[in-house]
Amino acid sequence: MKTFSSLYRQEYISQITKNLDLLVIGGGITGAGILLDARLRGLKVGLIEMQDFSSGTSSRSTKLIHGGLRYLRQMEFSLVAEVGRERKIVHDLAPHITSPEVMLLPLIKDGSLGKLAAYAGMNLYEYLAKVKLQEKNKMLSKKQTLVKEPLLKEDILRGGISYYEYRTDDSRLTVELLKEAITQGAVALNYTKASSFIYKDGKICGANVVDLLSNLEYEIRATKVVNATGPWVDTLDTLDDASVTPKLFLTKGVHIVVDGKRLPIKQSIYFDGDLKRMIFAIPREGKVYIGTTDTPYAGDYTNPEINIEDKEYLLSSVNKMFPTVELKTSDIESGWAGLRPLIKQSKKSPSAISRKDEIFISKSGLVTIAGGKLTGYRKMAERVVDTVTEEMQKNSRIMYGACSTDRTLLSGAKYGGAIQYHDFLFRKSKQGTTVGLPLEESSRLVRRYGSNVDKIFKNIQTGKNEAIAFEVPLPLYAEVLYGIEEECVASPSDFFVRRTGKLYFDIDTVKKWKKPVGLMIGEKLGYTAKMMQQQLGKLEEEIRTATS
Ligand code: FAD
Repeated sequence: MKTFSSLYRQEYISQITKNLDLLVIGGGITGAGILLDARLRGLKVGLIEMQDFSSGTSSRSTKLIHGGLRYLRQMEFSLVAEVGRERKIVHDLAPHITSPEVMLLPLIKDGSLGKLAAYAGMNLYEYLAKVKLQEKNKMLSKKQTLVKEPLLKEDILRGGISYYEYRTDDSRLTVELLKEAITQGAVALNYTKASSFIYKDGKICGANVVDLLSNLEYEIRATKVVNATGPWVDTLDTLDDASVTPKLFLTKGVHIVVDGKRLPIKQSIYFDGDLKRMIFAIPREGKVYIGTTDTPYAGDYTNPEINIEDKEYLLSSVNKMFPTVELKTSDIESGWAGLRPLIKQSKKSPSAISRKDEIFISKSGLVTIAGGKLTGYRKMAERVVDTVTEEMQKNSRIMYGACSTDRTLLSGAKYGGAIQYHDFLFRKSKQGTTVGLPLEESSRLVRRYGSNVDKIFKNIQTGKNEAIAFEVPLPLYAEVLYGIEEECVASPSDFFVRRTGKLYFDIDTVKKWKKPVGLMIGEKLGYTAKMMQQQLGKLEEEIRTATS
């Protein structure tokens, strides 16, 4: 069994070019979920991603595994029930990435929710989502709400609700799914683009792909092909059938990041923003991220920009709810913009469009999954793999197993289940101090890598000389090496943006260490000088988009 390493790229290419049962196009959360589900049912399955894994919407969300309280207002009871229940399952599969989070919902004068409606809605939500007793909401008086969050604007406050959601790291959830799928025998390649489809007797039987690192083109043959390309779903469907009607309506959602000292809220808050749209402010790693917007989008899909209106809207919303903080544009340290791949519904405003997912099958047999949410990835994958295996079973005597992703722990979660997690976190964080890490740093690594943290500790123990040679601090070196050897890091952007989120939550480290880390990755992967320059240039571009 191979680890998920950029060093094995050639071996992965030879594995993926031996006829597959299923080829998944798109390496976001949807594709990663399908890859794992299909592999666990016994399919020979491979995935290709044209950028880095999770570079699309799956690294640009609000990073919540949540029940979508607001979908109740759209009367989407089945969606609320499904994603609500999925929260606990996703938490149990990888508690180091997905953890319960207490949210405060302030109720304000003329707000989008009256006290009674909020109370009724919250209880209906918890009933549908089968929320456990210890995570039930609490109604708060105005005084209690202010004790919880003294920065709130007092004169408009009527009370509040304290309730639970789950926070996650969207990119890391995607990569842990992929790692688990690889461990189970699947194959996945980043920087590999599907450029056209291959047909036999009018039916899709694979894709022509381009390796974007080497510019080599090759074929991948598969009995079934799934289009899980999020915002690019229509682009891929058009490659299959130029006359197809577009399915998606894309909206842009922006988050900005400020230092925790500039917005020292005591917990995550879900509050009424301007334009009557609810906004999250979520503390993370000493910073607070604020979002999101929801505006129709037509432009570049790979790196949507944050514009001045997005920033002003979010800052103005914060300043109205927390009047003493007076945030300014200059307080914004970083940020990101993502595209929601929503299924078109005529005459509905962006916020009113359903977040449901839907499966489409083209005349040639291309299976497309569109819409949906990060939270519902597992059920989406189950439906897609059910569809694929039903089709495959029609033409063969092989029977594939049932979905088992609800009980397959993800990579990094091998510490005996959610119940054991807190003991594990305490024990491992202490163990990290024996390799010279300060307790806080050790605990941060345990929370990021879960049971795989042993490999980081080992890199620290054995890598002192090499870290000095690369002029990279030892703990950072240990993470970069792990990223290359176990998480398919192929560029400094992969490491700083998606494997660690440092571009958003620790921009100073990125600015300080981008060059030596880039050189380390380049040397380990045998980059030419030209490739090195390109990769460092790409990181500069990502820094510019996030911070300018
Ligand atoms: P993507 O992550 O975009 O993945 C598709 C991938 O396909 C891309 O990486 C792309 O590079 C690749 N691709 C495209 N074309 C090709 C090709 N030709 N060959 C190979 N690869 C290709 N959901 C939640 O549950 N909780 C939240 O808190 C939340 N917040 C959100 C906030 C915002 C601002 C937005 C925009 C969305 C949010 N969502 C949230 C929704 C959620 O993030 C998305 O539903 C989910 O990430 C979509 O994942 P995906 O895998 O379908 O698409």
